[in-house]
Amino acid sequence: MDGKPDRSIALYLHVPFCRARCLYCAFPTRPAGHSTQTRYIENLCRETKSFFLINPNYTVDTVYVGGGTPSILFEGDIRILMDIIHDCAPDAAEITFEVNPHMDDLPKIPVLLENGVNRFSVGVQSFNDHELDTIGRLHTADDAREFLKAARALGCENISIDLIHGLPKQNTSIFEKSLDETLEFNPEHISLYGLTIEPDSRLGCLSDAQLRELETPDGDSQAEVYDFARQKFTDAGFEQYEISNFAKPGFHCRHNISYWSGREYVGFGPGATSYINGARYRRIKDVDRYMNAQQEKKNTIQFVENLSTDRAAAEALVMGLRLSGGIKQSGIENRFGIKITDLVGEALIKYKEQGYLEVDDDTIRLTDRAYFVSNTIFSDMIL
Ligand code: SF4
Repeated sequence: MDGKPDRSIALYLHVPFCRARCLYCAFPTRPAGHSTQTRYIENLCRETKSFFLINPNYTVDTVYVGGGTPSILFEGDIRILMDIIHDCAPDAAEITFEVNPHMDDLPKIPVLLENGVNRFSVGVQSFNDHELDTIGRLHTADDAREFLKAARALGCENISIDLIHGLPKQNTSIFEKSLDETLEFNPEHISLYGLTIEPDSRLGCLSDAQLRELETPDGDSQAEVYDFARQKFTDAGFEQYEISNFAKPGFHCRHNISYWSGREYVGFGPGATSYINGARYRRIKDVDRYMNAQQEKKNTIQFVENLSTDRAAAEALVMGLRLSGGIKQSGIENRFGIKITDLVGEALIKYKEQGYLEVDDDTIRLTDRAYFVSNTIFSDMIL
């Protein structure tokens, strides 16, 4: 993983601890007591520091601490983690910390602010208690309201709210209340993801009959709710700069833009991935196995994939297409020496004819109607 001089990189740190597991969750996470958390953070810091000692020429632009529930960490552990972040990323312009709107985590906000966190991603998911309960979230809508208000009062000036659409029994009029409350709070950024039932999640273990009983909306109703939400956010002055992300001017998430722009990133923690020198590295996903490897100072990378030039170019294409500005054909050609038409010519023609892609001069972008079905389009391009 040796770097050339002065290369910039995005840094992701995963905190794999949560109070309980939400029903839809497929992330590597589990409950843990204080000493386990402390041991994990100390080892995570050591791993991160080693990487930058071996690769001193990387400059970190952005840091994202995700999970799990990073705000569950004890104050002392947060300080240890933030010290190492400042050590390895002294010039980072954006440091995001994921927090859950759990009132026990509120006292961590001043500690995070004091230690240079300048962006907060709050896992609200919905302002409807029935929906929160159905997906096993531990907080209520009132907790979220109180938490957001208090976080703002404490000085958080860049807050992103996470919402999920496609929740059981959801329709536009039910979701509208969550959207209105989100807009009333006036966050700087909103992420809106659709509920997916992952095989590794507790919802994924339910039978078809049990899932039907939950009354999750079908694809058409989900698309209707998604389009309705997009419209509301853009009418309220948010720019939809990516399929699932909306920002006030100047508040785009720089860290995630690094991923979508095909730039290099390094991740630490269970299941974290890195993209360095044209190769993808994936770390051990199982939390306990990861922590054992860390403790024994073993390599936590489980899997390395050296991407062929075609594959790397196709991935860069679909990542770039996630952005509303689309992607420049010349950018892919200059970077990989491959013409997009040689790479995905058939798919390009097909989706352009069907009205899902706009191609003008150099730029290719998804049309509005393609957003909801983008995964199908991308898998067609990447195979
Ligand atoms: S809070 Fe997030 S990471 Fe934790 S269990 Fe719920 S969905 Fe998973």
